[in-house]
Amino acid sequence: MTAGLLPGAGLTWPGASELDWQDDALCTQVGGDLFYPRKGESTEEAKAVCRSCEARVPCLAYALRARDGEGIYGGFTERVRLKLARRHAAGESLEDIIAADDAAFYARTEALTEKARQRDREIRAANQAATAAAASNPQSRKAVALCVT
Ligand code: SF4
Repeated sequence: MTAGLLPGAGLTWPGASELDWQDDALCTQVGGDLFYPRKGESTEEAKAVCRSCEARVPCLAYALRARDGEGIYGGFTERVRLKLARRHAAGESLEDIIAADDAAFYARTEALTEKARQRDREIRAANQAATAAAASNPQSRKAVALCVT
């Protein structure tokens, strides 16, 4: 495959009829180099598109069969696809592989959200404690009164 071509567009394959999934390929609508990140660039945006793509299973199947080394296919980088190929060869279905990846992603997202919520609670508690301490301190009440007048 030529670098820069979107995963779901313009692929050639001996069984061309097996490429009907490309009609549903979301990456062809998004465009850009998103699916071919350079070294060090984030792959998260492309993976997020793949997570919403109806062609994800056949796209991943294609990439594993074709051993296409470049770019993000089915929401996975080349490095991860090598591991997935072994799991799939050992009998795990692509649907299960994708479901496990989604579950891990949403668990990570939920954990980060909970961490942010906890941090927010801690900041609010610290602010309330500081406000209460300031209110009970006559000096600071005086300072507040002076500021107000
Ligand atoms: S799963 Fe991702 S790479 Fe594959 S067709 Fe869909 S958007 Fe393109």
